[in-house]
Amino acid sequence: MATPGGQRVRQRLVLVVFPVQSHITSMLQLATILHSKGFSITIVHPLLNSPNSSNHPEFTFVPISDNMAETKLVSPSYFISVLNKNCVRPFEECMDQMLQTEEQHDRITCIIYDALTYFAQDVADSFKLAGINVRTSNAASMLAYAVVRRPDDQGYIFFPDCMPEETSVIQSLNLKDIIQSMPQKERDVMVEQRAALIALTDSVKKASAIIVNTMDFLEQEIVMKTQEHFSTTIFTIGPFHKLAPTISSTSILEEDATCISWLNKQVPKSVIYVSFGSVAKMNENELLETAWGLANSEQPFLWVVRPGLVRDVDWLDLLPKGFAERIGERGCIVKWAPQKEVLAHVAVGGFWSHCGWNSTLESICEGIPMLCRPFFGDQLLNVRYVCDVWKVGLELESELDRVKIVRAVRRLMVDTEGEDIRQRAMEFKKKVDHCLRESGSSLNGLNELAEKILSV
Ligand code: UDP
Repeated sequence: MATPGGQRVRQRLVLVVFPVQSHITSMLQLATILHSKGFSITIVHPLLNSPNSSNHPEFTFVPISDNMAETKLVSPSYFISVLNKNCVRPFEECMDQMLQTEEQHDRITCIIYDALTYFAQDVADSFKLAGINVRTSNAASMLAYAVVRRPDDQGYIFFPDCMPEETSVIQSLNLKDIIQSMPQKERDVMVEQRAALIALTDSVKKASAIIVNTMDFLEQEIVMKTQEHFSTTIFTIGPFHKLAPTISSTSILEEDATCISWLNKQVPKSVIYVSFGSVAKMNENELLETAWGLANSEQPFLWVVRPGLVRDVDWLDLLPKGFAERIGERGCIVKWAPQKEVLAHVAVGGFWSHCGWNSTLESICEGIPMLCRPFFGDQLLNVRYVCDVWKVGLELESELDRVKIVRAVRRLMVDTEGEDIRQRAMEFKKKVDHCLRESGSSLNGLNELAEKILSV
């Protein structure tokens, strides 16, 4: 289509980013996918953890103030709640300005926002624009986060409407167990947390569509259940990182590519890759047990020790004396790795992960079995999927100790006991390839989404 002046008409989509590494990555991947479908893209982001705009010259980046520098981070839900309060006004002003200056051939039609930036749905409503809610986590969390324990501890409250308990048994996951498995801190019906959960779920209901970074074969049943609960249409178009045509780095931390040269020297499927994502923290003892567990496993390992992984301790200061000599060339430790490249490397045969959703998807896409050690939030849910439903991983439960680690690593990587898991992980890789084929479920979902956006 063209304007009377002959200019090509494009629709401009405003994407709102939640300022945490994994969420930034997911939104930039989605932006890349939608850009390849012919949409113009504006990325609105809080100033905190600003993405590197120079890596994405095809997008327009607009920062908004968030006042988060002064905020004490009591808990993830508190952070979410304060960020949402602080960003409403700046985002309204930013939208107002953009709408006043938009060009006839490049009109803003829709605001696509990370589910954790639910303030964007209210702003979309106030400007009479369509709001599209993006889940950068699994589909199951839509229902799991729609539930909190009652203040009197007598059962649960489901938002936004009351949901009968019997619908909570989904696949072989029991929703009630999932909520039970949230640590106490997460379960407490704190004022901020409740407010955040209600607003989070409410925005799902108000949205014009929901995009989930998942694949049908992983979560079809729960997507159907969720669709029954929320009438908003759900598009499953994952994994974003495979659907996004070539994309420049989305990392805030610098990736250390030297680990790829180290991997090149290792035997196929021999290396256990260890990384706990961008947020999780361990204590000193856990770090030590991990170090000795890896050393004693006799498997080569690539370990990401992110600065800040152990609170208030400088990088590697805590590694035990004699550790470097003990592991020699068998281990490689980096601050931040090019993870997708690592998981796709022939030398990697297992992934010890915190089970963040992105890490989980990235591992499944490459057919890598997982050793799971979740820390908080949706990671607890993902581990149930990986170990109990999909059966492509093992869980490292309760206190970390080096003997248990050795046993688990060897079972995952070499022992015959782990053969089933390794086999199933490879079968999952084939299923991912199916989803990504022409007329596969993810590409179909993407085409339907593009039509939906064009129709708003
Ligand atoms: N990641 C990376 N290098 C690392 C560790 C992690 O690039 O050394 C990336 C990883 O590929 C994934 C993201 O960081 O895309 C982590 O996201 P996830 O949802 O797994 O966990 P979170 O950081 O949200 O806890």
